[in-house]
Amino acid sequence: MLIGNHLTSSKGYLAMGKMAVSLDANTFAFFTRNPRGGKAKEIDPKDVEKFLEYSKEYSFGKLVAHAPYTMNLCAAKEDVRNFSREMIADDLKRMEFTPGNYYNFHPGSHVGQGAEAGIEMIAEVLNEVLTEEQSTIVLLETMAGKGSEVGRNFEELRRILDKVRLQEKMGVCFDTCHVWDAGYDIVNHLDEVLEEFDHIIGLDRLCAVHFNDSMNECGSHKDRHAKIGEGCIGLEAMRRVATHPLLAGKPFILETPNDDEGYKREIALVRSWG
Ligand code: FE
Ligand code: FE
Ligand code: ZN
Repeated sequence: MLIGNHLTSSKGYLAMGKMAVSLDANTFAFFTRNPRGGKAKEIDPKDVEKFLEYSKEYSFGKLVAHAPYTMNLCAAKEDVRNFSREMIADDLKRMEFTPGNYYNFHPGSHVGQGAEAGIEMIAEVLNEVLTEEQSTIVLLETMAGKGSEVGRNFEELRRILDKVRLQEKMGVCFDTCHVWDAGYDIVNHLDEVLEEFDHIIGLDRLCAVHFNDSMNECGSHKDRHAKIGEGCIGLEAMRRVATHPLLAGKPFILETPNDDEGYKREIALVRSWG
């Protein structure tokens, strides 16, 4: 099983790798830069080289990098859109230091322009920044539908994908808290939800899972993560997700409100499910 959590990238790749191993993780997520945005730290090729060796030694799975929250490819303000475009283009260059991993981002918030306009803008930027040569797969995250978030249902993600030229460079990250908050009942109807995902997007596009319980009810559109088993999804349903054959082998990333000890416990818990 591939499992890990969100790690701080400020000390570099090797430090993240060692932290992951200390938590008994074999993948991890990290922000490509400060989650609030801003300039990215210079990448140290020596550090990357050591990390790549280390990650091979410990059989790491694919990493799931996360774009900063300030990135909004469909912002109403043009300067925010331009800034976001530069950020994703730069992040994709940086991702190639560690080839063959995932880069996940929140599709964006259309801030009143309407979902269709948002979808159009998001796809337009992706068509500008994706390259044939890149080894990174870019993931659209399933969103809770808070405010004017685009990606509040599978159909919206499908419509983005349909407009992207280099579709083979694209995938989806399935966030259990977000999907539940969006109104998909993974507690009582997990098989049907996955079937619907397959029908609309295709399970071959489901590359990674953000594994979070939710503080709120199904359909609440709130997006507040809870510790595994302490939220409205609950332990049994979380276990069914983690052990579902259709999700086997995908990286599972915890984004739960925990300290290191808490993550260590949750990783051990998920591993104990087999
Ligand atoms: Fe996210
Ligand atoms: Fe997430
Ligand atoms: Zn969330």
